[in-house]
Amino acid sequence: MAKIAINIATGSLQQAEMIVGIDLGTTNSLVAIIHPESKQPIALKEHNSSSLVPSIIHFDPLGNPVVGEEAKQYLETDPQNTIFSAKRLMGKSYKDIKENANFFTYKVIDDDTDSLVKVQVGDKFYSPIDLSSFILKELKQRAEHILKTPVTKAVITVPAYFNDAQRQATRDAGKLAGLDVMRIVNEPTAASLAYGLGLRKDEEKTIAVYDLGGGTFDISILHINNGIFEVLSTNGNTYLGGDDLDRTIVQYWMNESGITSDDLNVNKELSQGLRLRAEEAKKHLSSNDSFSVDWNGDTLAITKATFESLLKPLIDQTIASCKSALADAKLTAENIDTIVMVGGSTRVPAVKEAVSAFFGKPVNDSVNPDEVVALGAAVQADILAGNNKDFLLLDITPLSLGIETMGGLMDTLIPRNAKIPTKVGRQYTTHKDGQSDMRISVFQGERDLVKDNRKLAEFSLKGIPGMPAGLPKVEVSFLINADGILVVKAKELRSGVEQEIEVKPQYGLTDDEVEKMLMDSITHAKDDMQTRALVEARTEGEQILSVTEKFVSKNAPLLEKEELMATASAMQALQLALTMDDKDLIHSKIEELNEISRPFAERAMDAAVSGALKGKSITE
Ligand code: AMP
Repeated sequence: MAKIAINIATGSLQQAEMIVGIDLGTTNSLVAIIHPESKQPIALKEHNSSSLVPSIIHFDPLGNPVVGEEAKQYLETDPQNTIFSAKRLMGKSYKDIKENANFFTYKVIDDDTDSLVKVQVGDKFYSPIDLSSFILKELKQRAEHILKTPVTKAVITVPAYFNDAQRQATRDAGKLAGLDVMRIVNEPTAASLAYGLGLRKDEEKTIAVYDLGGGTFDISILHINNGIFEVLSTNGNTYLGGDDLDRTIVQYWMNESGITSDDLNVNKELSQGLRLRAEEAKKHLSSNDSFSVDWNGDTLAITKATFESLLKPLIDQTIASCKSALADAKLTAENIDTIVMVGGSTRVPAVKEAVSAFFGKPVNDSVNPDEVVALGAAVQADILAGNNKDFLLLDITPLSLGIETMGGLMDTLIPRNAKIPTKVGRQYTTHKDGQSDMRISVFQGERDLVKDNRKLAEFSLKGIPGMPAGLPKVEVSFLINADGILVVKAKELRSGVEQEIEVKPQYGLTDDEVEKMLMDSITHAKDDMQTRALVEARTEGEQILSVTEKFVSKNAPLLEKEELMATASAMQALQLALTMDDKDLIHSKIEELNEISRPFAERAMDAAVSGALKGKSITE
């Protein structure tokens, strides 16, 4: 039975354990709930204050963190101890952020390795997970204060482009903050829920969710039918958002006043000061034609027309992403019924105009773009709490997932844009007699050779009982749960030996990299196909050589002398062909060897040996 508590503030009854929705944003974060009486999603806020909590952490001289507006005040006066945009660091190594390192006015440890970044404040080191947990802890406390009830369960949203590592990092941050994270939800999925889209059973719609927040840009194409949300495609850029719009203004003022990047590097206060004035200018220009402010004895000014000319390349980039997302969804702009605007930066009139012009219809911006994601997270939380059982949320994988097979080939188990949650299993076998270990290497990407893809994880299935090559049946299964986290399992079916891992990649991919991986797969498609064919031919040739060799040494007494000679020379010819880059030659030599060995093989070949010729094997 559910526990009932009394809300002291309102005197009303409410469930003791409610699940809150949290938008953990790059710039701002907030909490929303479904109002127990009105059943409508509302953003939580103290009287007369904003629902938005700046995602900024300031550490005082004793190292105690303070989050929100109070911390924001220190951006200018104490930049080294004031952490903003921590979300951009989630699941990242220094290498990932190197190009943008200048953006961070605090100390990001630059050991230039693949290990996850840490931020140094005083003599302490914090991971992005620690930093996000401070923000979540603050949100939890605020929510508890407002609701007068413990808050221990939450749905947290992430950008659609967050990969497994980043989703897991977000989940870990929740755990650190004392929250049971019930679900990680994509921001565009939450936004469409907040718009109540798809609430009617008979509604069928195709929606574009354009989300330009403080630090990230996502475009998602959703299809809603019979109360089921399906993400058809996503695209975007995790390094494009309101912060970048601010930077164009900072750059403009630097050019105007002769301030150089070196000046900003040595004077962090100057850099932060300009950044804050630039944001102020940008917001002002959303409803005015010009901006001007006196600062340090100078005047910082900019007109809306100038700002719009600076913005154009950034907006054009987002429109290019919209095009790609439509192409991935195999749709055109005319197929989109509704365009949903998300994120504070969609308040910029030029953004709305460009998006509306691209899709050829007015955009939908009736819900506060800063709150819409959290409101949707609350709707999802309500569904999870069992109050709204009619929904099923589906998401998709941005890149293909697979494992390495013989010759370094990528064997895709879950293709890109597959709907999740999903489960796929495939059988593999060994390629050596008595092989007791099988290495399972998990890769992400579209290329045919694993060396061109990204390795996510590797583990060994150990303890396979000794069997001839080709006999063990190893089922490898990929399960992507509703949070987008991949669980890989390998099981030898004859013996029951099994091994399982949750894939937590070492560091994340920027969506530029995702895009590059996709582009590479297209540009290299022909080469890749040829390489794959060659590698497959070689692998087959090597297997046949090894099987034949084994067979001959075992059955030599049964064979005629001529048969032995002919086999040896055909094997030699095949061996030579394997050293050349000619798959047709390899195939013809395989065929010749088969021709010669077929008569005696038919006489004696047993099932075990023929088994080795079939099925894919994995390098041990
Ligand atoms: P979010 O990540 O959704 O909280 O987005 C916050 C971003 O929206 C920040 O870059 C803000 O500067 C920006 N923003 C907020 N209000 C406005 C406005 N009126 N005009 C332009 N940008 C805005």
